[in-house]
Amino acid sequence: MTAGPRSRELYRRAVELMPAGVNSPVRAFRSVGGEPFFVASASGCRVTDVDGRTYLDYVCSWGPLILGHAHPAVVEAVRRAAAKGLSYGAPCPEEVELAGLLTGAVGFLEMVRFVSSGTEAVMSAVRLARGATGRDTVVKFSGCYHGHADHLLVSAGSGLATFGTPSSAGVPEAFARHTLVLPLDDEAALERAFAERGGEIAAVLVEGVPANAGLLVQRPEFMRRIRELCTAHGALLILDEVITGFRLGPGGAAERYGIEPDLATYGKVIGGGMPVGAYGGRRELMERLAPLGPVYQAGTLSGNPVAMAAGIATLRELLAGDGAAYRTLDERASRLADGLRAVLDARGLDWTVVREGSILWLLAAGGGAPRRYEAIPEEAAGRYARLHRELLGRGVSLAPSAYEVMFVSTAHDEAAIDETVEAFGAALDAAGFSGR
Ligand SMILES: *Cc1c(COP(=O)(O)O)cnc(C)c1O
Repeated sequence: MTAGPRSRELYRRAVELMPAGVNSPVRAFRSVGGEPFFVASASGCRVTDVDGRTYLDYVCSWGPLILGHAHPAVVEAVRRAAAKGLSYGAPCPEEVELAGLLTGAVGFLEMVRFVSSGTEAVMSAVRLARGATGRDTVVKFSGCYHGHADHLLVSAGSGLATFGTPSSAGVPEAFARHTLVLPLDDEAALERAFAERGGEIAAVLVEGVPANAGLLVQRPEFMRRIRELCTAHGALLILDEVITGFRLGPGGAAERYGIEPDLATYGKVIGGGMPVGAYGGRRELMERLAPLGPVYQAGTLSGNPVAMAAGIATLRELLAGDGAAYRTLDERASRLADGLRAVLDARGLDWTVVREGSILWLLAAGGGAPRRYEAIPEEAAGRYARLHRELLGRGVSLAPSAYEVMFVSTAHDEAAIDETVEAFGAALDAAGFSGR
């Protein structure tokens, strides 16, 4: 379906003023074709565009909106905070409260520092790990995204255990040489890397559940092996919980997998839709940050009172009532996954619906749930693009890329889920997908 006339008009102006008309690349709809719609407002599980079209939304701002759009408690908290001043550049009580909520919910977090994005959180945690270990090399995994810091925009070089090559122009080769990119789900590759370069590795960085190139759910044994090897070689484990923190539960992926990282990074949910990131870990490590220690990191708007207020209101809702919000999320997400699978089954399509908590991924190809980026079938992307268009035309907005996941919020009620499942069946039929 094509975007409405007002969206198209805005887009024409936007592309003159901003590269591809957007401020973050995937929003430009390049990988599904067509043009983006421009959002006028959003509420609960729905967004309304400038042409008055309403969509059931599974992007949810790419993860933060676990309570849905414009949740009344979050909006009210922001309104109150804003009236008291937008930024002070001095400590405020809200920072202490949100820090307390984070460290209270996550066992291994003794101290945190707030920043304004997930990118900043990861970039700073890596700097801290390098500062603490006196080593330069960072191990990351192919298919994991950790924001756009230079040394993490790196893809695997040729052959295992060789250093990476920049995956973006503007990243010096010299930076990429400090990043080792390994496949997920591969203990042997990790063991080899540590055997060869264990003494140089400052940190292993891994997403709590890799959810930026499909949803590549890892075996718990693999995650535990990362922990063991880091400990054995004096490297730090940095768990990137920017998506999974407070999404899979109060304890994030660390709790789900029973692993205790040295440092963890947060973003998305903890800001409730406002720009917030955080990193944290043991006191002894965190106290190496300036002004206590030699690792420098700062931010004009870090700990911003309005952003803190949105985070506090969001976490309070999530933590109230003994996990009720997480049970709701689980029920709704499982209803959606079951519904989508039934629709696929009825058409003889062997596509895969992967779910971890309230994160879902629709893989438009057979072969089951991949655990490695390299195992994602290429044919899925073209199918997803067709499906995306058909669903949009039926009032359901999925992320505009086959490699992006769906986020379910507490605002996605059963009626909305059922509407989605019905639209999915109709969209498959309209696009002519059938396994028979
Ligand atoms: C989104 C994301 C980031 C980057 O966060 P931004 O707020 O977009 O800078 C880092 N790590 C993971 C796992 C993410 O999903």
